[in-house]
Amino acid sequence: MSVARAVRTVPMKEAAAHGACLLCTVLRHHQMQLVEAIGVKNASQLCNHHAWSLARSAPAELAADVYKRILNDRHRPEAQPKRECDFCAELRREEKVRLSELVQKMNAPSFVEWMRRSGTLCLWHADRLSHILSPDLRGVVAEILARTANELEADLRKCAEQAGRGQHAGSGVLGRVAEFLVCQRGIPGEETPC
Ligand SMILES: [Zn+2]
Ligand SMILES: [Zn+2]
Repeated sequence: MSVARAVRTVPMKEAAAHGACLLCTVLRHHQMQLVEAIGVKNASQLCNHHAWSLARSAPAELAADVYKRILNDRHRPEAQPKRECDFCAELRREEKVRLSELVQKMNAPSFVEWMRRSGTLCLWHADRLSHILSPDLRGVVAEILARTANELEADLRKCAEQAGRGQHAGSGVLGRVAEFLVCQRGIPGEETPC
């Protein structure tokens, strides 16, 4: 598997599609590149989500390479039973890097102002960011969450009214609410357990 190619990272502002969590957006992009282009070097463990993502959307050569290694490992007596999925581990690594990048960016007042006005964060990333942000900036995160929740509530009302009139409601809002509540899909353990 050719894993040496660099993963193009997406600048935060470029990635921030209107109304989407900045960090979920960059992670989703990273995940897409992992699954559809470059894989994870020597991956030996897959979670349910990433096993099926590879089967569904990876180039056959990439998916076959990952599956072959994992099938092979099954026969090695020293193979360890379950560790974390390698794709999930890579996403968590990237998440850490991007969180630090965001903290750095928030040293600039102009970026903080932009965040206040237009930035979006999901609950999960807001929480993680608050933990590593200086106390005086945590209020900005709370402001972003309050604004986003208000916007989502208004959009949900509109969506329900349209659906009630039999119109095709913009389903985009449902996806945005799901992201706001439970973060980007595909990394187990980030949701509140049932
Ligand atoms: Zn997020
Ligand atoms: Zn995984």
